[in-house]
Amino acid sequence: MTKSLLTHSRLNTARTCMRKHYLRYELGIIAPDEESEALAVGTVFHKAKEWTGLGKPDADVSAMIHSRAPSPLWAVIIERLWWYHHWYYSEQKFETIDTERWFCAPLINPETDRKSGAFDMAGVIDGVVKLPDERVGIREYKTTASDISPDSRYWDQARMSTQTLGYVINAGQQIDVILFDVVKKPGIRPKKVAKKDVPQLQLGLYCGASVSAEDWVQASDDGRETLEMYGARLSVDITSRPEHYFQLREFPVIEAELNEFKRDLWSWGQILKDAARKGWHPKNPSACLNFGACQYLGLCSAGIVPEGDDVPAGFVKMDNVHPELEGDQE
Ligand code: SF4
Repeated sequence: MTKSLLTHSRLNTARTCMRKHYLRYELGIIAPDEESEALAVGTVFHKAKEWTGLGKPDADVSAMIHSRAPSPLWAVIIERLWWYHHWYYSEQKFETIDTERWFCAPLINPETDRKSGAFDMAGVIDGVVKLPDERVGIREYKTTASDISPDSRYWDQARMSTQTLGYVINAGQQIDVILFDVVKKPGIRPKKVAKKDVPQLQLGLYCGASVSAEDWVQASDDGRETLEMYGARLSVDITSRPEHYFQLREFPVIEAELNEFKRDLWSWGQILKDAARKGWHPKNPSACLNFGACQYLGLCSAGIVPEGDDVPAGFVKMDNVHPELEGDQE
């Protein structure tokens, strides 16, 4: 029997709603524009870090960002965050052991050491690094709109991340520490040009950067920052308070937490196997409006439960329900 893959995304979906898990991972149906803006931003930033780690020229990384970002505004933002993240950590003495380490390993019953007949675990580890004191860590990149200041609740939740525990048990080597490398997405957006900035703008300058004649004309016409002008202001904001945008925190790997996670994983494997066998996929109405609205809300609210090869109107069938495991398409 071919085993199914148990990824972090799949597990997260099952935890959120078993009906959603059934539709997304067992039937493989999605609305074509499923990928949220937040997910797309995180994916492009990850890819930029990966390409930099592989030594690709900055011009290629910039071009990739501009071609894949969900909008021209996001391209400007991601490019700045990528560039200044590199600048902020340029003195860091981490030795890169590996980037984008792919794994696929049996799901193991922690009581009996028996392999699951239904699931293998799979995922991609952002980075494996050696710290100056010789400890080995997993480096996990995150982008978020949340406050990431050292006292924020963000870190309470990060501390409980099961995604990184899954990486620890499947890294294929001893891991001592988990490094959360978190980038905060900016709260500022393009705004009206302030009167005080007009004299400098007439000299072809804005926030310390040169402004092209085209941008100058456009900004004069509509009184608002162009994207390049906004990018210049964002650069000033990032460099004047980099700790607002970038935080790196390490958490030690704790044996008791790993053991608890292994039990959780096995339990979820059993729950998913049981649900598939019985065809029971409970809905969780409390999750329907999380992060906007669930893409399946129209189906669930109308009492529609697709089966087999059914593809309801407005949906498509995925060729691969784990696109995050696919290699670079470039
Ligand atoms: S609409 Fe609600 S019940 Fe239906 S799959 Fe989504 S979260 Fe689950």
